[in-house]
Amino acid sequence: MISEGEQDMDAMQDYFLCNSCQNKDFRQIYNFSIRFHGVNFSDDLIYDKLTEEIFQCTKCNKTFTRDDIEKVLDEIRKNVKEKRLASKS
Ligand SMILES: [Zn+2]
Repeated sequence: MISEGEQDMDAMQDYFLCNSCQNKDFRQIYNFSIRFHGVNFSDDLIYDKLTEEIFQCTKCNKTFTRDDIEKVLDEIRKNVKEKRLASKS
């Protein structure tokens, strides 16, 4: 998933790619929900409002969470760092 052959490491840019069709374009979908919990000592309900972001591939419609994307971007970052270190030694 990582493109090769870029000489100028400082200007290198890598994209998160859809892992089924290699597309790099995604559209964003939000889910809004509210989660209730009962509390023992009162009749009140406490709640959390949740906003979930989902990213959908514009080509094959596969969806990814922000976590999925962050993980891949972290991998890219690690790989670039290793490449840099390897090229300096
Ligand atoms: Zn795709």
